[in-house]
Amino acid sequence: MKDDNIIHGTYGALLLDFRWKAKRAHILKRDGCKCVVCGGTKGLNVHHKQYHVDSQGRKFVPWNYDDKYLVTLCEKCHRKGHYRYKVPVFVIKNK
Ligand SMILES: [Zn+2]
Ligand SMILES: [Zn+2]
Repeated sequence: MKDDNIIHGTYGALLLDFRWKAKRAHILKRDGCKCVVCGGTKGLNVHHKQYHVDSQGRKFVPWNYDDKYLVTLCEKCHRKGHYRYKVPVFVIKNK
């Protein structure tokens, strides 16, 4: 596996990466730039429905996910969702 598929450093720094910005913009556009739960347009976040790790438990970089695992949520619905549900983690062998 290519090493740049794996997270190095902090997750926060990755969210500033141009590759995440491009992926995020793509998902926002697909979802019509609104929250898929409430239709709100304020403080939009792109949320991961699943987290993927390799066989050693190392997390993949946030942009290395199929679009179907990403969804646009407003800040409120995003926070509520994370409060209610734990994001499932799957081991992915070949990504
Ligand atoms: Zn919402
Ligand atoms: Zn989230």
